[in-house]
Amino acid sequence: MAYDFDLFVIGAGSGGVRAARFAAGFGAKVAVAESRYLGGTCVNVGCVPKKLLVYGAHVADELEQAAGFGWTLEEGHFDWSTLIANKNREIERLNGIYRNLLVNSGVSLLQGHARITGANEVEVDGQRYSAERILIATGGWPQVPDIPGKELAITSNEAFYLKALPRRVLVVGGGYIAVEFAGIFQGLGADTTLLYRGDLFLRGFDGSVRTHLKEELEKRGLDLQFNADIQRIDKLEDGSLKATLKDGRELVADCVFYATGRRPMLDNLGLENTGVELDERGYIRVDEQYQTTAPSILAIGDVIGRVQLTPVALAEGMAVARRLFKPEQYRPVDYQNIPTAVFSQPPIGTVGLTEEQALEAGHKVQVFESRFRAMKLTLTDIQEKTLMKLVVDAETDKVLGCHMVGPDAGEIIQGLGIALKAGATKQQFDETIGVHPTAAEEFVTLRTPTR
Ligand code: FAD
Ligand code: NDP
Repeated sequence: MAYDFDLFVIGAGSGGVRAARFAAGFGAKVAVAESRYLGGTCVNVGCVPKKLLVYGAHVADELEQAAGFGWTLEEGHFDWSTLIANKNREIERLNGIYRNLLVNSGVSLLQGHARITGANEVEVDGQRYSAERILIATGGWPQVPDIPGKELAITSNEAFYLKALPRRVLVVGGGYIAVEFAGIFQGLGADTTLLYRGDLFLRGFDGSVRTHLKEELEKRGLDLQFNADIQRIDKLEDGSLKATLKDGRELVADCVFYATGRRPMLDNLGLENTGVELDERGYIRVDEQYQTTAPSILAIGDVIGRVQLTPVALAEGMAVARRLFKPEQYRPVDYQNIPTAVFSQPPIGTVGLTEEQALEAGHKVQVFESRFRAMKLTLTDIQEKTLMKLVVDAETDKVLGCHMVGPDAGEIIQGLGIALKAGATKQQFDETIGVHPTAAEEFVTLRTPTR
């Protein structure tokens, strides 16, 4: 049977665009449908605008440090609407680039909500298209717990378009987004409290990293409240919001920001017309090759709930395009040793096993850990400490994990990701000549195990 398309991609986000472009480049007839914004979450309400706001907040640090280097500055003034307008302009530029990338690679771009109407059929705005294969790359959406007053809270989606910087913000959650946005709000001058339901935020990260970041954020004056969760939110007469905690305390703020995880975006996708099954967490179930339980339908990215990071969605999109249309170039995605950064202030960079994971996996572990005041701060009064940590297998000498909290952690950890992927040993780290004077050289000069 002749189909309209070889591949119909639903969602022009990180994973969908990568799969569509490369499939078309390999000679396939490809369509991609996008209901909201080209480039998806990452470009519009995720990585990119977030990082621009992080840069904005970081300027406050630079200003604070300036005096130590002899600079006398007039009192600074921050204008939220300028930052947001400039950010929006950049996002629009990127939307255009994504459009060109797709169109120039021969992909048919359909603007509108896509609904699957059969094993090989998708409907967009009343028009039906047939396709040999359908790729679901619809991403995720913020999830706010069902509490009274939840409609008064915002999520990352709205935060990027706030008309003004709130004076007082309550950030709820203890994952990537909560920690990053707490740093953004606080860095830009809002009175910020972070509420996390457990004992210590960033569950799953290395214990030293979690404790170190907690201490550094507290030094910066961020109000961290652990074992704290909101029971209800009410609007007060003056327009501010009152959050009543489960322990009975009441906190008043101008904005309550929820970052309590993301659900797969499956709204009105028509999965009931297919044999696609969900897993126990509600994400689309796929095998190692992103094949769903319906033979003609594949899924990648946040909607499969494996690792919700843009470079992972890109790698999965590439793997699908290659497997279907260039099988001789197919390589499975390697989910081991994925480097990642949390763009908190200061940021975290991490790759490989945490100390806890290494012990749990049965490794005999040697830990090398260093805390130091970065050279840049020596001419200032700022007492921030950088943390660097290596987790090493004591028997094989292999470096199992590298963890850092400090300036440029994301930049530094990328290179260490390559070393870990190549299976580097601690001896090879030691034999690598440092770049002096940098913070990064500490990773190759950690001589004495701390435990
Ligand atoms: P998405 O990028 O979400 O794309 C899905 C697309 O599908 C969307 O454009 C959506 O509109 C469209 N769509 C959905 N349903 C339909 C439908 N039925 N019809 C048509 N179109 C549809 N990751 C990092 O690696 N680094 C970061 O710094 C980082 N920061 C982040 C910050 C925030 C605030 C958030 C929310 C996420 C961040 N992420 C980051 C995660 C990253 O954005 C996601 O992992 C990535 O975007 C997932 O890509 P995807 O292709 O699966 O989905
Ligand atoms: P995460 O899954 O990272 O964190 C969710 C947080 O919310 C956890 O601390 C969790 O607590 C808490 N939580 C969950 N449910 C509730 C609830 N009902 N009440 C109170 N607290 C709750 O999600 P995020 O929303 O922060 O981010 C989503 C994903 O996006 C990330 O996991 C990451 O993959 C990606 N991302 C990546 C970034 C980067 O690369 N820099 C930046 C931003 C996002 P608990 O730990 O107790 O379960």
